[in-house]
Amino acid sequence: MLVKSSYPINRLLCFFGGSVFVVGLLNLFSSQVIYRIPATMPTLFPVMTIFLMVFHFLIASFMVMKYLCDKRRLYLMAIACAFGGSALLMLGTLSSYTDWLLCSPIAKVNYNDAFIYYFFRNVMMAVLFMTSIILYKYRHSQIHTLRNHIVILTFVIGFTAVMLVLSWLYSSNYAGMNLQLIDNLSRHFTPLWHTYLIGGLIGLWCLTLFTMLVMTRLRNIFWFSGYFFCVFYIFTLYLLQPALSVEGYGWYQSRLFETFATLFLILVLLCDVFTLYRESNNKYEDSYQNSIRDPMTRLYNRSFFYDSLGTRMASVSASTPVSVIVCDLDHFKRINDQYGHLQGDKVIQCVADILQNSLRQGDVAARIGGEEFALLLANTDADSAQSIAERIRKTVSVQDALDPDRIPEPVTISMGIYTAIQPEASQEVCVQRADEAMYKAKENGRNQVVTWQA
Ligand code: GH3
Ligand code: MG
Ligand code: MG
Repeated sequence: MLVKSSYPINRLLCFFGGSVFVVGLLNLFSSQVIYRIPATMPTLFPVMTIFLMVFHFLIASFMVMKYLCDKRRLYLMAIACAFGGSALLMLGTLSSYTDWLLCSPIAKVNYNDAFIYYFFRNVMMAVLFMTSIILYKYRHSQIHTLRNHIVILTFVIGFTAVMLVLSWLYSSNYAGMNLQLIDNLSRHFTPLWHTYLIGGLIGLWCLTLFTMLVMTRLRNIFWFSGYFFCVFYIFTLYLLQPALSVEGYGWYQSRLFETFATLFLILVLLCDVFTLYRESNNKYEDSYQNSIRDPMTRLYNRSFFYDSLGTRMASVSASTPVSVIVCDLDHFKRINDQYGHLQGDKVIQCVADILQNSLRQGDVAARIGGEEFALLLANTDADSAQSIAERIRKTVSVQDALDPDRIPEPVTISMGIYTAIQPEASQEVCVQRADEAMYKAKENGRNQVVTWQA
């Protein structure tokens, strides 16, 4: 039966609550700051634009790097183009502020050009965001062949280039095309801007936000940063909407708000990076543990045991001896034959737990065969190894009396010890000698501990 998952309403409410809070906070902050600075200060707007341009360039680079790490995430390139293109258009905005570096209060500003770049920047970003969302939605579908990948990438980069060229052509750089959004002399917005275009831009961003919310279903922190971005831009345009002229604080406050909002976005993206790092680190740790441990008992495996022993043997001496104990369950075939393999596995797990619980930190317990185990006891001489082995042997032999549900009948274990006091023997030789001692224990009647004698 197909179960249709419902929309995560709780997260939607959290997002709207969070948006109102963050927008309110940033707006309060930007309005407090902006009224303390004279709006006529000639360097204010260009400096804010430079900050914003650097931030957008940083976000674009971040998206490209993320895409290069995993080329299946083509949707990131649409966002990279949105921010990269935005940074370039802000370069155009800066060029509308002629001589701003001279800090002259009578410096001429081509406001119409600045608004043309601003308009194209908004259109370009909203469209590329929507493209990114659609690519994200269909990221697992069959359309992602190499050919389609190249076509989509070309479209995204091509669209950005077209927006850049159009904004340049409509600006005063080219006389053949003309778009009047503001009168440079009176500094009053034209009806085209404040009747149609600004409302159109707000509508476009609302559509982008809606598409995002529907298609990404509030999935992760990365998309949350996208929702916030749309909300910030809607609010930025909303701040501009009532203004009939560019004089006053609205234009400055919207730019300052945009800068803070972008900073917030960078913060959210950093959180996303941190989350990804933590997830991949956990996955790495899990797969590393799986590669060195036996899946049934979770004791270490044979190769890890030999590696650890090799490392220990390099520093072995009379004052820091290393003991190796090899253990084998007695008449184990009989347990399997009589009670089945499942019960046999239970016995192996029970003995593994006893071995694990008998060791100190720094010692290694490994399963080196079916019902064969090896212990590495660091800084342990032959006498101590003997008493540790005896304690384990006794614990194993009384198990069924302690917990009859766990193992079907009493089992015993034979153990062989070899203690190295100088580094001349290899790890293979150490294990072989402990194994020889264990076979002696078998020959002598099983259920006993034997120390290797030269
Ligand atoms: P001995 O006292 O001489 O050691 O006799 P034994 O019956 O224990 O002989 P041996 O050590 O050769 O037996 C190993 C048996 O362990 C054979 C195999 O059926 C069983 N075995 C190996 N791996 C597993 C496992 O993962 N689960 C279970 N249930 N049995 C296993
Ligand atoms: Mg065996
Ligand atoms: Mg055995």
